[in-house]
Amino acid sequence: MPDSSRSPPPRVLRVAVPTPLRRLFDYRPCREAPPGGWQPGIRVRVPFGRRQMVAIVMECRDDSDLALADLKPVDAWLDAAPLPEDWFWLCRFTARYYQHPLGDTLHQALPVLLRQGRSLAGRIREQWLVTPSGQAVDAARLKRAPRQAELLTMLRQHPHGLPTQAVLAQSFTREQLQSLVGKGLVERQEAPLTAAGLPASGNLLAEPALPLNREQAAALAAIHERLDAFHPCLLHGVTGSGKTEVYLQLIEAVVDRGRQALLLVPEIGLTPQTLARFRQRFRVPVVALHSGLTDNERLDAWEAVASGRAPIVIGTRSAIFTPLARPGVIIVDEEHDGSFKQHEGLRYHARDLAVARAHHHGIPLVLGSATPSLESLHHASRGDYRHLRLTRRASRHAPARLELVDLRGRPRQGGLIPPVIEAIRETLDAGHQVLVFINRRGFAPTLACHACGWLADCDHCDARMTLHRQPPMLACHHCDKRRPVPDACPACGSADLRPLGSGTERTEETLAALFPQVPVHRIDRDSTRRRDAFETVLNDVRRGGPCLLVGTQMLAKGHHLPHVTLVVVVNADSGLYASDFRALEHSAQLLVQVAGRAGRSSHPGRVLVQTLHDDDPHLRLLAQQGYDALAEHLLAERRAAGLPPFRFLALLRLESPREEAALALAAGAASALREWLKERELRVDCLGPVPAPMERRQNRYHLQLMLASDRRSQLHEACSRLTTWMEATPGARRARWSLDIDPQTLG
Ligand code: ADP
Ligand code: ZN
Ligand code: ZN
Repeated sequence: MPDSSRSPPPRVLRVAVPTPLRRLFDYRPCREAPPGGWQPGIRVRVPFGRRQMVAIVMECRDDSDLALADLKPVDAWLDAAPLPEDWFWLCRFTARYYQHPLGDTLHQALPVLLRQGRSLAGRIREQWLVTPSGQAVDAARLKRAPRQAELLTMLRQHPHGLPTQAVLAQSFTREQLQSLVGKGLVERQEAPLTAAGLPASGNLLAEPALPLNREQAAALAAIHERLDAFHPCLLHGVTGSGKTEVYLQLIEAVVDRGRQALLLVPEIGLTPQTLARFRQRFRVPVVALHSGLTDNERLDAWEAVASGRAPIVIGTRSAIFTPLARPGVIIVDEEHDGSFKQHEGLRYHARDLAVARAHHHGIPLVLGSATPSLESLHHASRGDYRHLRLTRRASRHAPARLELVDLRGRPRQGGLIPPVIEAIRETLDAGHQVLVFINRRGFAPTLACHACGWLADCDHCDARMTLHRQPPMLACHHCDKRRPVPDACPACGSADLRPLGSGTERTEETLAALFPQVPVHRIDRDSTRRRDAFETVLNDVRRGGPCLLVGTQMLAKGHHLPHVTLVVVVNADSGLYASDFRALEHSAQLLVQVAGRAGRSSHPGRVLVQTLHDDDPHLRLLAQQGYDALAEHLLAERRAAGLPPFRFLALLRLESPREEAALALAAGAASALREWLKERELRVDCLGPVPAPMERRQNRYHLQLMLASDRRSQLHEACSRLTTWMEATPGARRARWSLDIDPQTLG
């Protein structure tokens, strides 16, 4: 830290401001310097145009391109010391790699309250303790309030108190806490945030670790070999093979050495169940970072990790930007999952940043999946990543094979054909549970007129509107436009309007009619809008007893459903003939994930996959030989076609309310870029402009330009040239555009 008492203060602070402009701005320091002196990484409040903004000092300098007298002073400093070094490094790396404005990158990577200028010092944390009468009372006396009784029981297991965040993470509410306080059973305490988080006794574990099987032990030993160097590993293990147990024991080793562990999980994977598994194992704080937190809780969590107080942090995508005081390992679970990629604004991929970050820190990296991305498999096959396999399930039964069921020429009810309905009946009769997977929410994909062939198109998009019944409406899933369901065909006036195809609501309705004695639970975005609705259903289902689950991919991932022995995939075909080159990879991953829900405990499972293309070679390969064989085949196809991971891609997306304007702009960008590439003799292909797969969306025309190269650095040069051109071109300033490095979808 520079000694500010002696060295003179800098004359110029060059700061990053959260704007789309790709440049920094110079200010003069304010009169009072921060106690540690001016340094890069300190937040300041600056006048910017007519507003005040929170900016971050990037450089302390003595000169500016402007006359010093013209510079405005910053209004105030907000941090006595710079924001954490590793966070700062990651933001700079991210801005450079994704070619995103640095000011906006820094802004996005901070908790909301810090973006708004909240101070980091002197914060208080709230926690809840059981009072002596709360210890003495018989929890059964609270039988009119079963959740309060459960909450009291949980708090009793934590004699030193539980922070609010931990309580809410278990789906309890503030009202329940307050009721217990009102009854004198629980009390609220405030502890300064600097309180130590580690247990005094030094024993990390609250429950013993499971003895590992041979494969798990070998994988753990391999990762363990070097805990103090960058050491990327692909933990490739079938669903239920015990990857999580390996993470738990790896984290134990890392925390035992006084280091921190960061575990990234997909959005859908951070369930109270997952968290509970970690919190049960460790006696040290396990911090969770997810979208359900309030801004205050998020800042608390961020601080707990940044200060080193919390040794374990589990979070979804944006948790990759959490500063670590003592980084020890980064783990990405379900590394193939699409939710690690942000699809708007700063279009980063948290898995790829995890690789960069682990490399920067010189620590091990574990990418875990049953169905690794082709990128990671490719790295493993080249020896960049160590390939660790878990081939056996911890429970008795091997993952079920996919049985393809030919849909052609068969009558369907709610999307299901008679032999499949029969299989469902047998499973329920045997007292087991059935999961029906259907990747469309709503009642039916659209509404059709049987007299004239009219279909319910969206007025704003090149898409059909989905028919919903609960509540009844036509809704566009692309622009969210809604309208009432017509009584007669808007084109010919006929009343013969019928739903076309099946969505979750229709399948639910059909199954409820076929099996009136069995509960049917529907799980999709519409049915789970309430925060705990999903968990409530799952808890019910885990208790056992015959039932039917109908749901979208929300159901496919991560959830342990021990009593499900039959999985039905209503239609496997959507990914087979899609234009996107990753569609097959993604739908194979999804199918395997769904199939993995079957037969996870004492009974073997069956997976029935309905398809119109049971002779499709890719689907057959997946069904007969499994994901790894398909992945190998897809990699060969990608190599032949010059697609990722064998070449690198970037996508410029452009949109405008006027088709000609978008086209002229895209064509201008393409020709300027091609000329420049030729001059420089760069090995970058520029393809397009072409219409986006859905050209008209929300009444705007979407076009794209694709850049491809086998040289990462040349691709980046070209992208940088392209953004410079776009920013300098008057027409482009009026259009909306974005650059996506390593796009995950071409939509
Ligand atoms: P994955 O993360 O690979 O899907 P999990 O770690 O969730 O698998 O393990 C699946 C189940 O097997 C869990 O119920 C877990 O408790 C159990 N399990 C994992 N490892 C072992 C082991 N070594 N011995 C006994 N049970 C295990
Ligand atoms: Zn009609
Ligand atoms: Zn629409």
